[in-house]
Amino acid sequence: MLALLLALAPLPYVEGPAPARSIPHEALPTLELRLPGLVRANYLSNGHLEAAHLVVQVPKEASSQSLLRLAQRAVEVALAARPSLREVDLSFYPEPYLGPQSFPLFTASVPQERTREFLALKEPSGYDRLWLNPGLVSKRLPEPVLEDRPRLEGPEAYRAKEKAEQLRASRLGYRGGAIYHGDPRWPYAALTFDDAPHPLFAPLLLDTLKRLGLKATFFVIGRNAEAYPYFVRDMVAQGHELGNHTYHHLRLPALPEEAIREEIEACNQVLLRLTGQTPRYFRPPGGRYSPAVLRIASELGLTTVFWTDDPGDYAGLPPGVLEARLSAHLRPGGIVLLHDNVGASLQVLPAFARLAKERGLRLGPVSQLPLAKR
Ligand SMILES: [Zn+2]
Repeated sequence: MLALLLALAPLPYVEGPAPARSIPHEALPTLELRLPGLVRANYLSNGHLEAAHLVVQVPKEASSQSLLRLAQRAVEVALAARPSLREVDLSFYPEPYLGPQSFPLFTASVPQERTREFLALKEPSGYDRLWLNPGLVSKRLPEPVLEDRPRLEGPEAYRAKEKAEQLRASRLGYRGGAIYHGDPRWPYAALTFDDAPHPLFAPLLLDTLKRLGLKATFFVIGRNAEAYPYFVRDMVAQGHELGNHTYHHLRLPALPEEAIREEIEACNQVLLRLTGQTPRYFRPPGGRYSPAVLRIASELGLTTVFWTDDPGDYAGLPPGVLEARLSAHLRPGGIVLLHDNVGASLQVLPAFARLAKERGLRLGPVSQLPLAKR
């Protein structure tokens, strides 16, 4: 009876105003290091292992040899300052550092067990957790779009029609090339992480998921995947699923159709290059979509995946509030939206996994979410 009621209750379709929020800077603990060009060095723990991320600005014309030498020194300095680190991640940006919106020149991930190998490198090659920018130029990006409620953009007549259709579709859970939620008669909810991958967070999140025995769908931003390819390979190697979250994480409905197609296709291409496969799923950045966005994604063979539960983890919520929201919304057939680079999400995942288990719900990737049959 309960399942039937859930099946009939339509999801609220809310078209709210765009939130004027900015991503709060998380107060991560800092390492005091003596290293030329150091912008910041943060570390974080998932309760089991501790990782650090060093952002360094380097001369634009620095040779790959000198970048490697600086990277080796950075790892040594970080480990000397904090021997408990199990992983050191590095991002070297051209100076002056303009923020994460620009492309790094060099990145690396050095887990403790591979430190010796990394420090012994004579050339920046032969180590699979190192990336040298092959000449990609950073594109000037507008403010990042934050995930919010799925928001339709388009002519008024279309929006009215779409609202009505979505209300109908939300009873079923999917329509055409889009998934709104799963079949609420099955004890399963999809676990999704947007904006991946990010240094510092990727190794910790993957470790947490492994310990919890959970698999998830990561909606990957193409440019992040480009600069941190080893984390994308880790995700696949650990049995997670990858989805397309465009190349630059721009507000798609504002773009000409050609640019929308490019944004989606470019992300597909990066993932194909890194993993040998193109993703099946797509999620529009910020939940902003239009008829053209849905159509183009579908033409590219992608199913658009919305969500039922966005606890707003990106808004810098205290973990207690985040946990309460996750708990309040968790339901069979749900699609949970979290972000891969939020400390509080990392922190509450074990409790959330426990809660799901207590309620007899399995959490997993979108591909295993049962959809209602007509
Ligand atoms: Zn996003």
